[in-house]
Amino acid sequence: MADWQTFSDRINNVAPSATLAVDSKAKAMKAAGVDVIGFGAGEPDFPTPANIVDAAVEACREPRNYKYTPTAGLPELRRAIADKVLRDSGYEVAPEQVVVTNGGKQAVYESFQVLLNDGDEVIIPTPFWTSYPEAVKLAGGKPVEVFAGADRDFEPDIDAIEAARTGRTKAIIITSPNNPTGAVWSRETIRAIGRWAVEHHVWIISDEIYEHLNYDGAKTAYVGVEVPECRDQLLVLNGVAKTYAMPGWRVGWMVAPLEVAKAASKLQGHLSSNVSNVPQRAALAAVAGPLDDVYMMREAFDARRKAIVAALNDIPGVVCPTPTGAFYAFPDVSGLLGKPLGPNGTVCATSAELAAALLDEAHVAAVPGEAFGAPGYLRFSYALADDQLAEGMRRFRQWVG
Ligand code: GLU
Repeated sequence: MADWQTFSDRINNVAPSATLAVDSKAKAMKAAGVDVIGFGAGEPDFPTPANIVDAAVEACREPRNYKYTPTAGLPELRRAIADKVLRDSGYEVAPEQVVVTNGGKQAVYESFQVLLNDGDEVIIPTPFWTSYPEAVKLAGGKPVEVFAGADRDFEPDIDAIEAARTGRTKAIIITSPNNPTGAVWSRETIRAIGRWAVEHHVWIISDEIYEHLNYDGAKTAYVGVEVPECRDQLLVLNGVAKTYAMPGWRVGWMVAPLEVAKAASKLQGHLSSNVSNVPQRAALAAVAGPLDDVYMMREAFDARRKAIVAALNDIPGVVCPTPTGAFYAFPDVSGLLGKPLGPNGTVCATSAELAAALLDEAHVAAVPGEAFGAPGYLRFSYALADDQLAEGMRRFRQWVG
């Protein structure tokens, strides 16, 4: 490749999204007629509730939705999101603090673009959702991983976080309920992180997209509630994808201190302008409506959670802690590495090789732990139909032998 043809270091240094890569490979195999069971992307299998779809259909017929609208979001939706924060988290924010984004992912991206200068460090409790470090790098920042494994129920250790702090530490990410581990961090941990951030003047990015998916009596703790004094340095990220079964509608948001929200909106004004109006109107129906549907889905997820954890722990060499949130199981599969597996006796040295072999040979899609900073693990999204789940687990077990 000639010099002029090379791409930027910025893009060359970014890894592709592993969750989406596994999902698209599984979907492509399905389209080619292969009967793949997809535990890849975290994508609720339920249809979007009918009242939300109806609101979108109606919105399609309204000419006001054919125009550009304010970059930061429809005023009614920003108001509804502010009301939702009060309803679910119990504290007041102004609609002007809300920026509606193209999915939660754009809110992640914009957070780091707004906050980071080159070389600024972001502490990322690990295992992490795959896009965080890449969004940090795209903003010139440096991801700093602080690992907590299954032995601690994936609960971050505040002493380890403090040990990772340097003069360049600019922000820390909280994700509870967690993707990929399904852990719901304790109030004590959330409080400790919030207080630590206040003491050391560190921004907090709290990704709360799985807030309503709790099981076994676990309860999402909100850092803005536990440590009210952190709200001036807190960016809460969320969206409709997981709560209302709307991943493809691409509506997320950021709730941030006013100046941060204004800066994110300035960026969005050059990047993508307003989120498409029809999905915004659908999101308005969702956010302003009740939570009945998510509670119904939560019941179904709960039954699947129990089924998948039992099935995984039944496979020799697999150890799966019981998750209490989101819809992911994150088993330790290191016991399968280095051993002959499947009818061909395939030997996998890493969880990445294991995930590839499982897909190719048993037609079961899962995301390797490497994508989340946790080699030796696999992530299974159990947001799929019960019979699919049972069949996928049967195949995995049979393949292991
Ligand atoms: N957040 C989901 C996941 O982790 C959807 C895919 C993605 O955007 O990463 O699977």
